[in-house]
Amino acid sequence: MYLILLGAPGAGKGTQAHILTSRIQIAHVSSGDLFRENIKKGTPIGIEAKGYIDRGELVPDETVIEMIMNHLNTPACRNGALLDGFPRTIFQADSLNNALHERFNKGIGRIIYVKVDTDALLQRLSGRWICPVCQTPYHELNNPPKIKGICDHDAAALYQRDDDKRSTAERRLQVYFNQTMPLIEYYKKQGLLLEINGQQSVENVTNDIIEALNVLSMDKEKKDIILGETEESLVA
Ligand code: ADP
Ligand code: ADP
Repeated sequence: MYLILLGAPGAGKGTQAHILTSRIQIAHVSSGDLFRENIKKGTPIGIEAKGYIDRGELVPDETVIEMIMNHLNTPACRNGALLDGFPRTIFQADSLNNALHERFNKGIGRIIYVKVDTDALLQRLSGRWICPVCQTPYHELNNPPKIKGICDHDAAALYQRDDDKRSTAERRLQVYFNQTMPLIEYYKKQGLLLEINGQQSVENVTNDIIEALNVLSMDKEKKDIILGETEESLVA
């Protein structure tokens, strides 16, 4: 089963992805994390992506599609994945759909759209701290680690992303409104969109997502569906 987390920068996609993948056995594929890993390693993809990311622009469709599809071809994603940050344009969404059908004979299961107001998004981005090892996001006020500046999971020192500074964050939100928001209607028309109120506690957002997916209350057979072991739809 392929699931997509859709939402603005700062909506809580990464936070929810980390929680969900610790509870549901599914691979987490974050396009932003993959780009940051490529930048760190100095790969051709990283070198190309860096300028776009620093300016708060989208990396060209062809580059991101190739990176994600290569990743989806790895054994970890054979039975499905939770996509976080991809797709971000209609072209990417069409390409993903075609590729899933052609390569895996599968479609997208559900789109989890996490909705948050712009003011809250900017507050969240400005206080975001990330673990460089496991990529878990924290927030200095809303969702702090147990020890200030240190990851709860691996004790690494947290860092702030350069593109979370105010001017770049504002640009990223504009880009989201122009290029990514059309995906909401696109998936709504396909009957795949689950709209979640992202402006509540992290725990309540998780609970709403799980309830909407109806995962944990499923019996084993249905749970296998979401784990990607059959082709059936999520909904009974
Ligand atoms: P995204 O991956 O969508 O950009 P993140 O998951 O990184 O968003 O979250 C952005 C920031 O908001 C982080 O600092 C995170 O700790 C914080 N955050 C996430 N979910 C919530 C929430 N429900 N309420 C308040 N802050 C949140
Ligand atoms: P956020 O968690 O704040 O939404 P991401 O970590 O997902 O941000 O993305 C960081 C940057 O990486 C984006 O601003 C963009 O430059 C690039 N990026 C990530 N995913 C995509 C994508 N699907 N298409 C184009 N660019 C992307």
